[in-house]
Amino acid sequence: MKMKTKMIMMMMKKKLVANKGLPPSRESEVLQNISARLFDCFLVATYCYRSFETQQAIYQNFVDQYGEEAANRFSAKPGESEHQTGLTMDVTSESVDFALVEEFGSTKEGEWIAAHAAEFGFVLSYPEGKEDITGYIYEPWHYRYVGEEHAKFMKENDLVLKEYLNEY
Ligand SMILES: [Zn+2]
Repeated sequence: MKMKTKMIMMMMKKKLVANKGLPPSRESEVLQNISARLFDCFLVATYCYRSFETQQAIYQNFVDQYGEEAANRFSAKPGESEHQTGLTMDVTSESVDFALVEEFGSTKEGEWIAAHAAEFGFVLSYPEGKEDITGYIYEPWHYRYVGEEHAKFMKENDLVLKEYLNEY
């Protein structure tokens, strides 16, 4: 196994252990499958599960910094975050200093995960050009697990979860 892949797997494992609210089985398996197939891509999962309290703190911090209207475009109110389901993870890469920024979408890693996430049952929750529907700005780092079958269908038909649930 390549050194980088091994490192990614270790980091992801550590992250999952840190996220004790999560059932380790499925997400851990999916992450390891992804990382094992990454080879030279340096992809790191940052935020996974968040509690109500953590989401509240994060949201409040953004409101204090940017005001409520702006904050609502990129941060969920406590109780409304996909992260609270434990089915969502934010991924990033070293090439953007592990930040959650729009530029991640045009990195090698961002392009790789956009192309392959559905194979592992993940979809991008807030794609570019869908803010009117999702209520959130483009977040190329925020992936939600919906299962392989649904993920592939959503990707092929260019649907976000809200559209998929409304139409099918
Ligand atoms: Zn997120």
